[in-house]
Amino acid sequence: MFGPDRLDRFARHIVLPEIGGAGQARLAQAHVVLIGAGGVGSPAMQNLAAAGIGRITIVDSDRVEASNLQRQTIFAASDIGEAKAEQAASWVRRFDPEIAVEARNLRIDRDNAAQIVAGADLVLDGCDNFATRLAVSDACVAAGVPLTSVAVGRFQGQVANFAGHLPGIACYRCWVGDAFDADDCDTCAEQGVLGAFVGMVASLGAMQAIRVLLQGSASLGDPQWGQLHLIDGLKPSLRTIRVTRDPACRGCGPDVAPRHSDDRTA
Ligand SMILES: [Zn+2]
Repeated sequence: MFGPDRLDRFARHIVLPEIGGAGQARLAQAHVVLIGAGGVGSPAMQNLAAAGIGRITIVDSDRVEASNLQRQTIFAASDIGEAKAEQAASWVRRFDPEIAVEARNLRIDRDNAAQIVAGADLVLDGCDNFATRLAVSDACVAAGVPLTSVAVGRFQGQVANFAGHLPGIACYRCWVGDAFDADDCDTCAEQGVLGAFVGMVASLGAMQAIRVLLQGSASLGDPQWGQLHLIDGLKPSLRTIRVTRDPACRGCGPDVAPRHSDDRTA
């Protein structure tokens, strides 16, 4: 299964009863698509790469700016002006040459989302606007791909696993509704964000993604579908609410995605 180098590299995972050799093998086979290589995406990507995820695709159309360096932990001053997706992929290659990494230097939207999420085992969305998040969520539901959603606004963080393609499980659109499809709101530039806090929320996102990937392979593999973890960074505290499936949801409801109709009526 693993050679001596890989056994050594992941020894602290493998001795964990919650992961073990079977869990580590599963992570090595997994393909994660990361939407955004920014404040959430950078530390989430570091944790996922360190965990031994075998294949990582990074989607981001931005270039590194000086104001990113306060929280986007994979970038250095020498990266300013360079494409984030490319620089992020370079970070992964340096960190672990055995990870298959792909940079997609483009802005994800309704037209290209299906092609980008196709074949992924999981999508982790840490982007900075609702319109993209909803496009990603709808594409994940249609493709049957689980979605880990990670969002930060000032000192509030939200992390949840969605799977609208599964019967009775909510999708991201069930949670936020349709109001934000056309908006580009709630960006860090307007709100401000503290680097240490966004890193904390992003790490929880990576943890929740790993839970999904380990389902069926290790005891940590409880995806906690629809459990929305709300983190207050000032106290700090964490509370959890359940997001229920919205029967009228345009993303996963009964009037779309007819190929899933059997799942819903089962
Ligand atoms: Zn839904």
